[in-house]
Amino acid sequence: MTTKQDNNPYSIQSAKLHWDDAGAPHATDYGDIYFSQESGIEESRHVFLSNNQLAERWQALNRESTGRFTIIETGFGTGLNFLLAWQLWQQTAPQHWQLHYISVEKHPLKAEDLRRAHTSWPELTSLAAILQYNYPPLLLGQHRRLLNSAQVCLDLLFGDALHCFPALLDAPNSATPVNASRSPRADAWFLDGFSPASNPDMWHNALFACIGALSKPSTTFATFTSAGFVKRGLRAQGFTVEKVQGYGRKRDMLRGTLNKEVDIDAPAPEAVAVPWHLPGPQRQPKQIIVIGAGLAGCSTANALAQRGYQVTVIERTAPASGASGNPQGILYTKLSPDPGELNQFNLASFLYALSHYKDLLNRELISGELCGVLQLAKSPREIKQFHKLKALLIDQPWLQFLSEKALEEKSAISLSGNAFYYPDAGWLSPPSVCQAMLAHPNITLLNNATALRLEHIKDQWHVLDEQQICIQQADTIVIANSNDAKRFSQTAYLPLKAIRGQLSYLAESSLRQSPRCVICHEGYFAPAVGQQFCIGASFDLKNMHCDITEAEHDWNIKQLNDLAPALLKPDAKAIGGRAALRCASADYMPVVGAVPRIKDFTENYQALGKDARSKIPIPAANHPNLYINVAHGSRGLTSTPLCAELLASYIGNDIRPLPRPLCEALSPARFVIRKLIRNQAL
Ligand code: SAM
Repeated sequence: MTTKQDNNPYSIQSAKLHWDDAGAPHATDYGDIYFSQESGIEESRHVFLSNNQLAERWQALNRESTGRFTIIETGFGTGLNFLLAWQLWQQTAPQHWQLHYISVEKHPLKAEDLRRAHTSWPELTSLAAILQYNYPPLLLGQHRRLLNSAQVCLDLLFGDALHCFPALLDAPNSATPVNASRSPRADAWFLDGFSPASNPDMWHNALFACIGALSKPSTTFATFTSAGFVKRGLRAQGFTVEKVQGYGRKRDMLRGTLNKEVDIDAPAPEAVAVPWHLPGPQRQPKQIIVIGAGLAGCSTANALAQRGYQVTVIERTAPASGASGNPQGILYTKLSPDPGELNQFNLASFLYALSHYKDLLNRELISGELCGVLQLAKSPREIKQFHKLKALLIDQPWLQFLSEKALEEKSAISLSGNAFYYPDAGWLSPPSVCQAMLAHPNITLLNNATALRLEHIKDQWHVLDEQQICIQQADTIVIANSNDAKRFSQTAYLPLKAIRGQLSYLAESSLRQSPRCVICHEGYFAPAVGQQFCIGASFDLKNMHCDITEAEHDWNIKQLNDLAPALLKPDAKAIGGRAALRCASADYMPVVGAVPRIKDFTENYQALGKDARSKIPIPAANHPNLYINVAHGSRGLTSTPLCAELLASYIGNDIRPLPRPLCEALSPARFVIRKLIRNQAL
């Protein structure tokens, strides 16, 4: 089904519904129902939960360990199947396991329709309320939500199943995943999606190929349909398929298990594109060291600890002492109408960060205020982008496009220009975020320990300090120490640059008007805390010290005067400040993933120099169990939560929170591959 918004990289057509007298929604375009009003709950339980034997399987999970169970669904609809699975999970699964529920939806329900549908099931009210609160905005793409203190990881993929599922696969050719044993897989499938007769576009061989590629021996499926070609399609993927009793008056349904001993370690039968961004055949970690206790390191340690790993964080001084130590960090992003990877990442990480921090603030684990962020568009280029985005991002609850008239009303100060306004964003204390992330029983912090060299000896990484003394060892390392990552021989190749930034603190009494929200332009200006407020930060690529300079205080004050000329009283001056070095990569994307072994990459992938489109099905040759998460620039508060999830998903081998092209765009190997393609020296 095509829509008038096909050229819009953001929009998705929401579900067109009509409601029957009993209060059940019907899909107008498909002429089909979401659930039956008399027996919706019982039917879903029978078809999807019982026929995947979920209660029995979850009761049998090892209560002494941790792990995750992954369900993938076609057609999220009202979320009934999800809510029932979650309810059963709470009743039967071990406490420390995580339910990973991935569901694709081409026409998501609007938030108000979701709420209305949920009124049919009083017994699900409390779980439905959590889902409603965390329901993502209607935007194309993958939306991750960690619910109930990460008991459930919900990935909602808004888009067509035939586009979204291939992007979950590690190799682009869905039928032939490279190094399949390391590709994340489903444990169970809920094949919903309207009946094949009313929705033939989805029940397609390409869908069955994705289901096969995302399954492993013992993966089960259940579906309400018993259509012959569905049976044949799934059999062709290696499933044994049974026709069993449907619910109530429905005669038959299908269920099955991937029993065939698929040789998932076998090399791909045909060449696929270059799988260079993947971790490769890494060992399951027993002990993980994270180097660096800034936002990147602390959030990575937390995402790993949540997955049950024991993590030691090594920090040169104390947590949040570098760029993550500023008293007020701003939760914001920069969007552009360009649908490129940087913009997609900025949007995905911002939306994830909004829900992540809202949860932490609600639980009073961090400090800050989601008082709104106003981002001014003043130059002709910015204004052009503003109008383009206004035409693309329509009816988004997280973003408003303000004309000059509305600026003062939102901010309580006189401003000129247009502005993007993010009502759910604001400022946070980055040190409080670091502290909250480290406060997990699986994390041990080692302060005042400097990691200067990494040596791999007999499956163990040794971390050496200035005296060449081994201060810690573990089988797995995550480098998250910003610019200092360049000191390790394994990551010295990375094109990282340090950018000095200085903040200035001013007394609140030097303001004529106090802002109600954060205001960003060249720098930022946040509402006062404790009678002082913060402006900055400067941007200096030449000086690499962290001393406070008067020249940069003057620059910060000038920026504020240019932004709002009558705001500061004439005698306003800085009463303090803080300087730190940010870390950015050459393409301004963070660097997240397995660390490549340059020599092997050069040998394995040199054919790219002759033909950039060569298909080379050789798994990436990375340093064993060595990962990195750095280069978050000035937006670490926004980008680190999703990047931490991404890195932890590589290590835990679970489905990634981002589609494959974005994983590639963040990979540390991208710089090596680009040079090989351009025949440049490494
Ligand atoms: N599982 C849902 C629940 O618990 O409420 C009911 C699903 S409803 C029967 C089928 C869903 O599949 C609809 O929400 C529909 O929009 C979605 N759908 C149909 N075709 C699709 C496609 N090609 N890709 C993704 N979703 C699709």
